[in-house]
Amino acid sequence: MEDRGVAALARALQDRRLSSRELTEAALARIGREDTALNAFITVTPELALAAAAAADARLARGEGGPLTGVPIAHKDIFCTRGVATTCASRMLAGFVSPYDAAVVERLAAAGAVCLGKTNMDEFAMGSSNETSFFGPVRNPWDLERSPGGSSGGSAAAVAAGLVPAATGTDTGGSIRQPAALCGITGLKPSYGRVSRYGMIAFASSLDQAGVLAHSAEDTALLLEAMAGFDPRDSTSADMPVPRYTAELGRPLAGRRIGVPPEFFDAGLDADCGARVQEALAVLRGLGAELVEVSLPHLALSVPTYYIVAPAEASSNLARFDGVRFGHRSKAAGSIEELYKRSRQEGFGAEVRRRIMTGTYVLSAGYYDAYYLQAQKVRRLIAGDLRSAFAKVDVIAGPTTPTPAFRLGEKTGDPVQMYLNDIYTIAVNLAGVPGISVPCGFARGLPVGLQLIGPAFGEAAVLNVAHQYQCATDWHRRQPPAQPAGAAR
Ligand code: GLN
Repeated sequence: MEDRGVAALARALQDRRLSSRELTEAALARIGREDTALNAFITVTPELALAAAAAADARLARGEGGPLTGVPIAHKDIFCTRGVATTCASRMLAGFVSPYDAAVVERLAAAGAVCLGKTNMDEFAMGSSNETSFFGPVRNPWDLERSPGGSSGGSAAAVAAGLVPAATGTDTGGSIRQPAALCGITGLKPSYGRVSRYGMIAFASSLDQAGVLAHSAEDTALLLEAMAGFDPRDSTSADMPVPRYTAELGRPLAGRRIGVPPEFFDAGLDADCGARVQEALAVLRGLGAELVEVSLPHLALSVPTYYIVAPAEASSNLARFDGVRFGHRSKAAGSIEELYKRSRQEGFGAEVRRRIMTGTYVLSAGYYDAYYLQAQKVRRLIAGDLRSAFAKVDVIAGPTTPTPAFRLGEKTGDPVQMYLNDIYTIAVNLAGVPGISVPCGFARGLPVGLQLIGPAFGEAAVLNVAHQYQCATDWHRRQPPAQPAGAAR
């Protein structure tokens, strides 16, 4: 619904038709009623939220508010929040209260957004279903028996269910776009380096990027403008000006060239999802865009490449959680070596341990050349495919996921099936380019996502195409049924 979105709420706040206190109280009440069923939040911070809302109302009363002043949001629990538990959905970080704010948290707070709490996720952002969380799975508001996707599943479910108008997420291989698609909302992974990673707990540092989950491209553009920009505390953050994304949304699609890679429409794509994406392409053509076939010949190698590069980086990043300097400390250890082993064994869940072992193996002497170095070469080929395609087109379009939301438990026994969920999203991370998922209809009653990919730092183009599509369709306004109050699952 339009009135659930950031842009509409911000207008109501600025016109003083609504106060941030009213909005925040209503959102907190709704979380209290409905989140028992969804499990989208790990931590809710009512006192901090109400204090921030009061400050926002005071600014609005003085006529000083900006476009996000007083708007409630939530942060994925991978972002450090000063004075608030930051768990990364892991037992390893249970009890950790961050002494500082992540850059994303800082910037959105400075823009006046009111943080309601921290959302559930896959442990250390490793997963595609939100089932690896130490705090239990999140449920998809469209069907509580199904996964909301992952790893930003808590943010996606919270936005889709209307608990909060927008939330942050992170995307290393699809973790913003895939849950956005499965929950019927809009999710943007910006270009690598567009948003600071300072204070965002690292999974795979050459792939991780912070982004937005919201109802519309317009709402996403508003948040991205506040989040993006150079940060000297992140050496990979890009020292480039941030465009006014909202100012580019209205550009007509006539003359835009949209690339369609046949590799996105392979045998693994569910027929109903494929049909919805084709219908969306027809809408874009009807709006004046020219559809052009482009080829991504190495797309099929993106999942195996990712599952070498990402675990390698994860094994290195997660070495710091040793029970001494960081993280859970086992009480059962007799020696220092036993302390490391037991603390890590008790603190990390099965999927995280699997990634650490894979990563350590592919980086070990004797296997480094065969696996890690080879994967880096294939990564370059995949990035090259996208670069060649963007010489011909402005944006690439295709499905976000091969299927709609799957049942909880359906893929937990088979990691490879779980990994294949990201077949259409991972290349975007390997190449460092931006990608957005927007709702484009339903398959068997479940939301389907259209993915739009841009060249590096081409966020304005993907947001423009997404917004024009949303002006012509209303899939992004569809809402799941409200959850029965207090219905614990
Ligand atoms: N599903 C992928 C994984 O498990 C991607 C996760 C992510 O983007 N954080 O690694």
